[in-house]
Amino acid sequence: MATRVSLTMAGHEEAGIGDFVLLDEITIDSFMDNLKKRFTNGKIYTYIGEVCVSVNPYRTMNIYGADFISQYKGREIFENSPHIFAIADAAHTKMKQQGRDTCIVISGESGSGKTEASKIIMKYIAAVTNIAKQQEIERVKNVLLQSNAILEAFGNAKTNRNDNSSRFGKYMDINFDFKGDPIGGHINNYLLEKSRVVLQQQGERNFHSFYQLICGATDNELARLYLRRDIGLYTYARQGGRAASGDPSADRPDYRNTMTAFRTLGFSQPQIDSVWKIVAAVLHLGSIEFVSDGDKTRTADPSTVKHVAHLLSVTEKELVDSLCHRVIAARGEVMQKEHTVSEALYGRDALAKAIYDRLFSWIVKRINDAIVVHGTPGRFHYKGTVIGVLDIYGFEIFDKNSFEQFCINYCNEKLQQLFIELVLKQEQEEYMREGIKWQAIEYFNNQVICDLVEQSHKGVIAIMDEACLNVGKVTDEMLLEEMDKKLANHPHYTSRQLRPMDKDLRHKEEFRIVHYAGNVVYNVIGFLDKNKDTLFQDFKRLLFHSSDNTIKQMWPEGEMDITQAKISFENTTKRPLTAGTLFKNSMIALVKNLASKEPYYVRCIKPNDAKSPAVFDDERIRHQVSYLGLIENVRVRRAGFAHRVRYDRFLKRYKMISQYTWPNFHGGSAKDGTKVLIDEQKFSDDVKYGNTKIFIRSPRTLFALEQKRSELI
Ligand code: ADP
Ligand code: MG
Repeated sequence: MATRVSLTMAGHEEAGIGDFVLLDEITIDSFMDNLKKRFTNGKIYTYIGEVCVSVNPYRTMNIYGADFISQYKGREIFENSPHIFAIADAAHTKMKQQGRDTCIVISGESGSGKTEASKIIMKYIAAVTNIAKQQEIERVKNVLLQSNAILEAFGNAKTNRNDNSSRFGKYMDINFDFKGDPIGGHINNYLLEKSRVVLQQQGERNFHSFYQLICGATDNELARLYLRRDIGLYTYARQGGRAASGDPSADRPDYRNTMTAFRTLGFSQPQIDSVWKIVAAVLHLGSIEFVSDGDKTRTADPSTVKHVAHLLSVTEKELVDSLCHRVIAARGEVMQKEHTVSEALYGRDALAKAIYDRLFSWIVKRINDAIVVHGTPGRFHYKGTVIGVLDIYGFEIFDKNSFEQFCINYCNEKLQQLFIELVLKQEQEEYMREGIKWQAIEYFNNQVICDLVEQSHKGVIAIMDEACLNVGKVTDEMLLEEMDKKLANHPHYTSRQLRPMDKDLRHKEEFRIVHYAGNVVYNVIGFLDKNKDTLFQDFKRLLFHSSDNTIKQMWPEGEMDITQAKISFENTTKRPLTAGTLFKNSMIALVKNLASKEPYYVRCIKPNDAKSPAVFDDERIRHQVSYLGLIENVRVRRAGFAHRVRYDRFLKRYKMISQYTWPNFHGGSAKDGTKVLIDEQKFSDDVKYGNTKIFIRSPRTLFALEQKRSELI
């Protein structure tokens, strides 16, 4: 049941406890009570130790201004009330003081506030750095901040969950110099949901860029792109229905922002022109229809074809040729194979998706060029230390789930696994190693689901890849049969075939994976095609031969001519990797990268499905709290210790505090010295002594020690 909460209650009720670790009892009910109390009082952030739980407020909060920035700058987490600024500051301070790479992992489902959180973090970091106002650093900061506008224009879309949903994953490294000022960065983008270019569900839109262009460009600009200011004319942009169309009041200013950002980032005018030409070409492509003419297939509307050809800077003949037939090499001969009308439509859509996808990747590359850390070529390349910020698609369950949801949900499994490894498992393992008395905490380890997807030979991706080897012979239905055969006994997998009576599985093409975050029924139709992700070589050649340099650059592999294509096709060892395997590899690399850094976590929660600032949907939130493993997180944290350090290091740092240890301790080992000091300072109740390290429970003890130390030096 959703409860409507009053926003004017602040002050009348206590604002809850700022750190779940301090709750009297750790149950889901007490957790929910506290979260609700805080949300109701406008407190959207709450800690679990150093993990920040954030509830999307769905309204503008007055908590990100200069006053707040200075309040959090350079402070310890526990000195102020909970805020995402404190996490950003901790990651920055840790990096600066200890020279360690850190990362901030932001997770949560679609619409929970991840992207907003990542922007808030970046703005905070920009605000607290470069006091000396160095020009180059100002430039880098500007590029970092402005890059979001472009990435969102081309990679975000309105979905039924989120009006500004990121349809790609983003990991951004920010490089800092030894003073802690940003000197550059790098963005990795992951799997853009390119199927959206040609197909949107009811109520959803294509990527923002299409609507920005139509609503925001001048009449002149539109005329040059052969466009009219009417979204309804363009098949690719109007499938979501009327409610999901262009919105001049938002799309027009957004277009201007995108243009400003392009210029800030140093895109040249010809490059910007090419970008919009490509966007326009995609819109027009959606209007190209085909007719069958005897045994030939022709394009139906010559004027649209002409426009697309102009926009892509290719000849009409080349475009029509690549749309209506393909060149193949068979039995040593090169010949033309005519498409059927449906093959031609398929090719057209594939072309539109591929062009947009390449455009997006190209834009990311240009952004990276603009923020690359400069060094003298051939000399030591100074990259300094790094803060990584991960904002990647959240767990998704739609009415119809396809290959994209499969990848997205697998990604979330990997991140959950990382969280378990870093926060739950390592912590407990260290206590065991150190011989600290410890009550083991039960938690669900989702490794078994990661294996289901990624294991070689028997994981879903491997089974898909095998099916893709037999081009044309294997159907999606046959893939499902194969999965049923190989995964029949897997506790997290089932299908209609395996469980005919299951009412979740209505169609024979469906299979279900029990994810850590919930059950998802996938429809297998389209999996093979999306996994294979091939584009006729004809299109690649077409675009490589574009006289527009920017477009040409996006299609380097189009240079290969048909005879070479034949040779490489026969050389089966050089088969291109499938979309599933590429995605899997990129996820494994991502997790490895994150694991090498000191992690900070922001766990985002979506309060309701109505995008309302006033509804705390108990059931929906309870579900998220439980699958994010937050209760286990509190338990581990509560049983755990905020700080741990080797005895010799501890003594070296604090020995001046105690008369018994200053200037040196002579009564035994470093462990003995530590005990003497702690006893004298009356912190014994708050610490435990491990084999090689002292464990300090509360950050306050550490803070007190630091204070005493700083008074003496
Ligand atoms: P996600 O990236 O998790 O899918 P977003 O970050 O795009 O979600 O957030 C969805 C919407 O929720 C935003 O467009 C914004 O309207 C609102 N929102 C999220 N976080 C905040 C915040 N801290 N303050 C105000 N509004 C927010
Ligand atoms: Mg997002």
